[in-house]
Amino acid sequence: MTSSTSSPQVRPGGTLGIVGGGQLGRMIALAAAEYGLKVHIYAPDADSPAFDAAAARTVAPYEDAQALAAFADACDVVTYEFENIPHATAAVLAEHATVRPSATALLTTQDRLVEKDFVNGLGIPTAPYRMVDTADDLARALDALGRPAVLKTRRFGYDGKGQRMIREGDAADAVLAEFGGVPCILEGFVPFLREISVVAARGPDGAFAAYEPCANEHRDHILALTRVPAPGLSAETAQAALAIARAIAEALDYVGVLAVELFEIDGPEGAARLVVNEIAPRVHNSGHWTIEGALTSQFAQAVRAVCGWPLGDTARTGGMAVAMENLIGAEAECWAELLAEPGAHLHLYGKAEARPGRKMGHVTRLFSPDAAGA
Ligand code: AMP
Repeated sequence: MTSSTSSPQVRPGGTLGIVGGGQLGRMIALAAAEYGLKVHIYAPDADSPAFDAAAARTVAPYEDAQALAAFADACDVVTYEFENIPHATAAVLAEHATVRPSATALLTTQDRLVEKDFVNGLGIPTAPYRMVDTADDLARALDALGRPAVLKTRRFGYDGKGQRMIREGDAADAVLAEFGGVPCILEGFVPFLREISVVAARGPDGAFAAYEPCANEHRDHILALTRVPAPGLSAETAQAALAIARAIAEALDYVGVLAVELFEIDGPEGAARLVVNEIAPRVHNSGHWTIEGALTSQFAQAVRAVCGWPLGDTARTGGMAVAMENLIGAEAECWAELLAEPGAHLHLYGKAEARPGRKMGHVTRLFSPDAAGA
């Protein structure tokens, strides 16, 4: 229990609060348990996967100030596993506990326009973009950026939801209308060679540790495969990606784990090949490989960072190459085969219903670095 904004040293036996009850919260909770912490999860849905791994739970809406206050009072430090928590929720929590990452980091990263302004303000490139609230805005933005372009809602987008490509001949107004009049941005299309991400951590003392960049492949807008090291990514460009993640973490005075998703484009090696797509102020799907593939998992690292503990070693386990495959919807039905596969590390999230597009689990494989496919 603390209302201090300084950096409390949470001790083993203390309580870590996690706002959000999905698989990310579940995996943070499992890592926290390994350090002898108790975990208290706050989530509105009584079926939340994270509850299975927690010592305590609060089932209440994110707007319930009384429940939020009681939850925060019961925790030594509070973190969250998704960025779309309302600002008022973060404000109530911060009155009653140390919340990490900060409400400012949340505000900056939960709105695509604010986030892009922030990243560009650091001199780091993003896709060109325009604010779009009306059909007139959209027409002007398309004139400026050309087609194809990508229309995205400013908030609440994930796994391709709240985003649509506008190609030659598409009725742009109809796409905007589909989003129901919420604030949007239009992004110019980035002709990327590959998508990479950097998962990194920063402690309250400014300590910084990043995992090497990984390459991400999407299917139907959902992450399908993450590979480390990223095939074809030069050492120079990888270094530049790490420097971008560090600059972002420092500018946000960030405490916790964050992920920076980048597009690699054609051009001279180094920073000139990189464009930031988005920042996730939390552990990230593209960091799941670290559970077996790195000396410290991103979940253990998040616990260390928010508790003010020393950050762990981010090196790959035994220098092995790693591939992490998501199990989406019915793909998780092959769990028994995966259990029988030597060396396959299976993770299931305990979700009852395997709806299409739903992340049900993942499987991680480690390879000798020179093995085919690594
Ligand atoms: P996002 O929700 O912003 O992470 O976008 C989801 C996916 O859509 C990305 O991983 C890319 O594959 C694609 N995408 C998003 N924005 C752009 C863009 N401006 N240019 C090209 N592809 C994009």
